[in-house]
Amino acid sequence: MDIFDAMVGAGHERVLVCSNPEAGLRAIIAIHSTRLGPGLGGVRMWPYASTEEALTDALRLSRGMTYKAAAAGLHLGGAKAVIVGDSKRARTEELLRAFGRCVESLGGHYITAEDVGTDAADMEMIGSETRWVTGLPVDRGGSGDPSPVTARGVHQGMRAVAARLWGTPSLAGRSIAVQGLGSVGGYLTRSLVEEGAKVFACDIDADAVEAARSELGVEIVPPAEIYDVACDVFAPCALGAVLNEKTIPRLRARAVAGAANNQLAEEERDGLELHRRGVLYAPDFLINAGGLINVYNELIGYHRERALRMADGIHAATLRVFELAERERLPTFRAAERLAEERLAAVGRLGPRHWERPARERLSARA
Ligand code: NAD
Repeated sequence: MDIFDAMVGAGHERVLVCSNPEAGLRAIIAIHSTRLGPGLGGVRMWPYASTEEALTDALRLSRGMTYKAAAAGLHLGGAKAVIVGDSKRARTEELLRAFGRCVESLGGHYITAEDVGTDAADMEMIGSETRWVTGLPVDRGGSGDPSPVTARGVHQGMRAVAARLWGTPSLAGRSIAVQGLGSVGGYLTRSLVEEGAKVFACDIDADAVEAARSELGVEIVPPAEIYDVACDVFAPCALGAVLNEKTIPRLRARAVAGAANNQLAEEERDGLELHRRGVLYAPDFLINAGGLINVYNELIGYHRERALRMADGIHAATLRVFELAERERLPTFRAAERLAEERLAAVGRLGPRHWERPARERLSARA
């Protein structure tokens, strides 16, 4: 891969390759866009088979963060970091601190957060070397577990689906099939049951399944059969790429709205296929933005009620996407991208900006 071609092709601003052999650190920080604000995105630790694979992931994920922040109306740009290595064995203090120094060297153009293979304790360690870190534990002045806020946003996205399809946002009496009863799926399921929805769910974790059955009265289905459940909404809350050429023909849902990242295995092919079949798809990066909204609020001074209120805004944002999709006869994922691109272009036209200041002052005060 030619890195310049790749960056120009997707519009990346800069890529920092970090190497610290003593600490065992090999990391890549990709900043896709700072047009709306500092690039914020988690740091993923994964045993990539090659440097090219790690770079491809960093470039792809950072671009996705630009769209997520733009669609959510946040004053944030898009970025992402990847650390090459097995997080179970190689996640040492010196590696995390060395990574923290790389983040610091970017002077606030990149702000890190947790992702696959890293957790809140790691953010504390990284935070001993840089101010540009979010997702700290609550007792360190951080925003803590983002899952309740993510679940709130997904629920609001689902209520927008209901308003669109059935003329009322209420999910009472609606049937929802939830794939994955983890952090987000668990909170989402509870709030759906509280609203009066009939929930079918699956998980590969026996404890999660038992808790949902006994505490919430959820009807459990085997994981392999979740796609076949006749229901109003299918809610993927476990893995990515679950909407693909094998699963889409099996769906018996009117709509898809869930928390998982990158639900469409191939965006173009699978997004169009859902559209063709008349399955209303609430774009994942739009309705699962609650986690990003949560860490954004950490930057500006954390207040849980405010974060939840902002997550409620996902309802109106999802309706706007559905309206544009109908007006322009677009698949919904395209409409969501279009709205994000319009915001990026409009703000980009303003020229040089001074976006760092509020976040920088807040973070400096905390250091
Ligand atoms: P989690 O690890 O807490 O939960 C995932 C659950 O899915 C687990 O209970 C796991 O056992 C289950 N699972 C795994 N494979 C499965 C399968 N084949 N069938 C059924 N269940 C299966 O993760 P989470 O934090 O709840 O996140 C869920 C999804 O939402 C992920 O894709 C994540 O990237 C995305 N997401 C999460 C947040 C957040 O705030 N946590 C924010 C945005 C997006």
